[in-house]
Amino acid sequence: MQQTAERITIENGIVMTLNDNDDVIIGGMVVIEGNRIVYVGEGAGKKEGSGRTIDASGKAVMPGLVDLHYHTAIGKGWSDHLPLWEYLDTYWYPAIRALDDETAYWAALASYCESIRCGVTTVNDMYRRLLGLGRAAEEIGIRAVLSNDIADDEHGLDTLEDTVEAHRATHGAAGGRIEVAVGIEWLPLASEQLLRDARSLADELGIKFHIHLNESMTEVENSLERFGRRPTEVAYDCGVLGPDCIAAHCVWLSDREIGLMAETGTHISHNPGSNAKLGNGVARLPEMLAAGINLGLGHDAAECNNSRDLFQTIKLASIIHRAVRQDASLGQPADVLRMATRNGARALGHDGGQLAPGRLADVILLDLSSPAFVPLLPEHADQLYSHLVFAADGGCVDTSIIDGRVVMESRRLTTVDEELVCAKANEAFRAVLGRMVVPGAAAS
Ligand SMILES: [Zn+2]
Repeated sequence: MQQTAERITIENGIVMTLNDNDDVIIGGMVVIEGNRIVYVGEGAGKKEGSGRTIDASGKAVMPGLVDLHYHTAIGKGWSDHLPLWEYLDTYWYPAIRALDDETAYWAALASYCESIRCGVTTVNDMYRRLLGLGRAAEEIGIRAVLSNDIADDEHGLDTLEDTVEAHRATHGAAGGRIEVAVGIEWLPLASEQLLRDARSLADELGIKFHIHLNESMTEVENSLERFGRRPTEVAYDCGVLGPDCIAAHCVWLSDREIGLMAETGTHISHNPGSNAKLGNGVARLPEMLAAGINLGLGHDAAECNNSRDLFQTIKLASIIHRAVRQDASLGQPADVLRMATRNGARALGHDGGQLAPGRLADVILLDLSSPAFVPLLPEHADQLYSHLVFAADGGCVDTSIIDGRVVMESRRLTTVDEELVCAKANEAFRAVLGRMVVPGAAAS
């Protein structure tokens, strides 16, 4: 679907640019042409040209959020009393083995609906049946980087060939809004040869790499047992790491592994909500930041979070580290908001994540009229940053523009019938449950 070259003028808002100077412009204006921002600045006397005008009075205008580690989810709230390894074996893998393009399509649409409602404009989505996902992303209008759950053949998940096929069919669709990346599920299901082959494929196709690394202690123990090295050391030796690689979780990194991430320019998706819910621990965020690693934020999956509201993740990305380190200087609001926007865009090689002329037009408007944002003195930008990190939730997102197209307005999605999507996603879950082959005892 081609983007319309509509001109959109957003006026009278508090424009939080998240640019290099962290400029905040009260009564500012953002002008979009096609899928690019063409003007950001003072609004007075600047209005010109035709097109559509959006009045952002009483609203903050900021870059859309980038959910840097994402899985479409079909079965939120199911069997989620289990620890990670058991959960994967008895529910997650059987469920995703039972997907087809149609069930994946409805699950993706429902997932993307919730994300857009919470201000997310880009997802880095590792899942299966990418043709179904690509169709969903194209229709709903979200920016999506899609990767498979590639594992060694005996695990019955995806193969490198699946990614070649998805790349051929979907990469660059919707005017470049949809991409395909190479995705490795995790090291317990991968041989070193598979990691090397996956890296070769990413290089050959010139696409990004998405992988889970060092998520849990059990994963690290498995790696030491099978490879005699820790997960990130194995990934490094196989050439996986690099500036085109997004490593998710990275909870249990040794000092050496942090050094390898920094040396290779690998980006990390920090997913504190999932790590906490699954009992996996707290990542060494201060050390990773000190090493100069680019960190973005992800919700992971609705099955292990259980919310796609990235504002929850933003808050946790600050307060969890303050709690465990007993240090309230950590996770300052402006830094955490940058993780959720421009750092994520940088990790994906996207020209977005900040409001500046020439950048991609992924923009959200947040309604500041809620009592949650009282008191607010707009001329004190620090207070606004603080509100957005500690007091906001996804429900304050009023309007979302992705790639220059309004996909939500006054909290109503413009591209899909949400009621239908929710009903179909429920049906899809029932169908998948009916097809699942669960090893051992049936899941509850
Ligand atoms: Zn994950």
